[in-house]
Amino acid sequence: MEYEVMLDKLYKELPKDLDFSGERFEIPKVRGHLQGNKTILSNFNQIVSLLGCDGQHLLKYLLRELATPGKIDGSRLEFARKLSATFINSKIEQYANAYVLCKTCGKPDTTIIKKESVSYMKCTACGAQYPLKV
Ligand SMILES: [Zn+2]
Repeated sequence: MEYEVMLDKLYKELPKDLDFSGERFEIPKVRGHLQGNKTILSNFNQIVSLLGCDGQHLLKYLLRELATPGKIDGSRLEFARKLSATFINSKIEQYANAYVLCKTCGKPDTTIIKKESVSYMKCTACGAQYPLKV
């Protein structure tokens, strides 16, 4: 009997399951390779779905920020020059911070809405809303 009581006490003192719900959203990293003078991103579609963003919008942003022509080829994204993964990752991070992650709660549960000529980012997790600089 005494033994059981001890066990019971032990279990009660174990830490509760860690709560991961407050975990920071991890911005996906690019995967790809160089092909001649081109840079091929093989996981562009995956990045788009993880960010839950509009692929065309992200593509336009990247082409402008990287000052490189490029196109989507199936599930891949092709840039017309050599780019380092670190450089592309930093632009995706900028994009996520500007258009995907809520500035209040840090969650990626945002949608972009348009009111008149202004675009807003609205967070479905906490309800925050910000005008977007496009
Ligand atoms: Zn939020």
